[in-house]
Amino acid sequence: MAQPSPPASPPPPPSRLASRYRAYRLPAFVLAAALLAAVGVATVAGLRSFANSAEWVEHSYQVIAEIESTLAATRTVESSARGYRLTDRPALHAEYLASIPSALNHSSGLIALTRDNPRQHRLARDVERRVRQRLAEIDRLLEMHMRDPQQARISSQTSHGAEQMRALTAVADAMREYERALLAARDARTERNAALLTALVIGGLLLALSLLALLMLNLWQENKRSRALERESRQALAELEASAAERQRLTERHRSLSHYAGLLQSCQTLQEAMDMTAHVIADLIPEFGGRCYILRASQNLAETAARFGREAIASADLLHPDDCWGLRRGRLHRSQAHDGGVRCAHLARADAAADAAGGDPRWSLCVPLMAQNTSLGLLCLSGERPPREADLALIQSIAEQLSLAVVNLQLRETLRVQSLRDPLTGLFNRRYLEENLQRELLRCQRRKLPLSVLMLDVDHFKRFNDTHGHAAGDALLARVGQLMQELVRNEDIACRYGGEEFTIVLPEADAAAAMQRAEQIRAAIAATTIVHLRQTFGPATCSIGLATSAGDRDTPQQLLQAADAALYRAKAEGRDRVVDGNRPAAARA
Ligand code: GH3
Ligand code: MG
Ligand code: MG
Repeated sequence: MAQPSPPASPPPPPSRLASRYRAYRLPAFVLAAALLAAVGVATVAGLRSFANSAEWVEHSYQVIAEIESTLAATRTVESSARGYRLTDRPALHAEYLASIPSALNHSSGLIALTRDNPRQHRLARDVERRVRQRLAEIDRLLEMHMRDPQQARISSQTSHGAEQMRALTAVADAMREYERALLAARDARTERNAALLTALVIGGLLLALSLLALLMLNLWQENKRSRALERESRQALAELEASAAERQRLTERHRSLSHYAGLLQSCQTLQEAMDMTAHVIADLIPEFGGRCYILRASQNLAETAARFGREAIASADLLHPDDCWGLRRGRLHRSQAHDGGVRCAHLARADAAADAAGGDPRWSLCVPLMAQNTSLGLLCLSGERPPREADLALIQSIAEQLSLAVVNLQLRETLRVQSLRDPLTGLFNRRYLEENLQRELLRCQRRKLPLSVLMLDVDHFKRFNDTHGHAAGDALLARVGQLMQELVRNEDIACRYGGEEFTIVLPEADAAAAMQRAEQIRAAIAATTIVHLRQTFGPATCSIGLATSAGDRDTPQQLLQAADAALYRAKAEGRDRVVDGNRPAAARA
């Protein structure tokens, strides 16, 4: 599972302003674009209007210049003609001839220039007419001068030349004044247009830019939000993947756990169950280490039965139940390395420096194995990091399964013992004897070794019972069983054959050794008194019959019959004695 990252802050909810902007985004964008287009169109129109106005202004200047040129050319004609008349210099005549077309051209040009304005056009025609009148008068005087200079001089004095010139100038002045007025009006209009255009362009641009800025702000907020959403969805995806992995892990654990539960049912011994539990814990939660304890039947000591993983905090091999908080309280106990007083005494002390700083992160877990309010054992785990809830649940589940298995195994063991042992004396029962005598006999016969059987019967036991009571009889039988258990070797089989009769199988013991052992037992019983309900009884005596296997032909039945026969003889010979059945009665006598 991936290391969980710190949760990112959730994306901010869209503000009311932002959502309102989003609704108006398209119209606002269209409006901004339309405004920009309008500003562009207005700029182009304004520029064209500028160009147009400039043309008209230039036109007015042309008209004014043409008026001046017409007057100047007419005066040139007039002055050169007058100079020629006074000096007769040919150059002046030539100048006169040359300047006439100029005056006519300018006056015609003036007419052409003023076609757009009827008033000026009319005045221009008037100017041209007066120029022609004036030129005709000058020409008449000049012709007269050529014919008769004297006459010409008189005629010039009466001529209306000066008046003609004044009238011409007056018309030209009127034209010029009017044209100047037109010029002023055009200038004013151009300026007004320019101001209007400037205001329009600036206003339009500002509005369009504001709209664009709002749009940009809205887009930026939208972008920020979508990035936050993307981040959130990526995180959600990661969490989903992590939880799927966790689910997979839990499913896997579940499967392993049920497999484990199945295997536990098949365990034959407690040790086997403990070993398997250790193996399962190490497999499922390898980051933990620890051990499984089994509580002794005496309930005063728990001993380590199996270990798993690497213990973060070492635990004792043997522990007293009072040393463990889990066992004391009968429930799961969890503590940290620096928990001080509430830490179990069977765990190793924490590092003093880390303990003082409170910075030792190690922890331990004691899970008692319980069934019917009885402690059976303990699971003790420790690790470098705190356990997760899933780990705790798993460990508890394992502990429950194991507890059941331990109870079952203990019950099975009890039943097995009960089926083989006699409850009163603690000795093996007749069934066990029959099963094992056959095996021991075959083993000794194969190895050419002897095997002896003792058959023991308490003397006058009926009388003992009748005298002291059945309970005292039971106490006597139990004491006899205890003595027999103490006086035989581990490999011998001491059992209660039935009632107050006992059988002892002594593998590898010949008749002499068996005789010696039988005497010991007889003497010990004869020397023992029993205390029952504060009363002392006995001692009681017993008779013992002995038989030793004589060769390959002996069967368990034959041996037991031979020992029984010897016992019968012992009774007959006066009780409290051992009779060796291998020897004939006559020989002994
Ligand atoms: P003998 O010396 O000939 O063996 O005499 P005896 O009285 O011991 O022999 P008998 O076989 O007549 O008596 C056996 C008695 O043992 C009878 C029975 O009441 C008693 N008995 C058998 N089993 C038990 C038992 O488990 N507990 C008690 N208290 N008595 C038992
Ligand atoms: Mg008997
Ligand atoms: Mg008896």
